[in-house]
Amino acid sequence: MSKATEGPLKPQRKGVKEIMKNLHMVTVTLVLVGALNWGLVALGFNLVTLLLGEGSMLTNLVYILIGVSAVYEIAIHKGSCKLCGKK
Ligand SMILES: [Zn+2]
Repeated sequence: MSKATEGPLKPQRKGVKEIMKNLHMVTVTLVLVGALNWGLVALGFNLVTLLLGEGSMLTNLVYILIGVSAVYEIAIHKGSCKLCGKK
């Protein structure tokens, strides 16, 4: 059988949890890249357009992914945050 020492979660639910964790790590990274880039834009320096080109398809794709990631993080934040999830 599989590892029995990892708590009461069933394998199927553990898989979902693993996917959620990976998705969270990807979306948090993207949101932070967006935020950092926004900070850089204030200093007259856009790393995303510098690397991928002004108005290029890749730049737009990155912006869209960052936006979608932010929406996802907003949606799951309350349920997953230790500070504002519980009362
Ligand atoms: Zn919170």
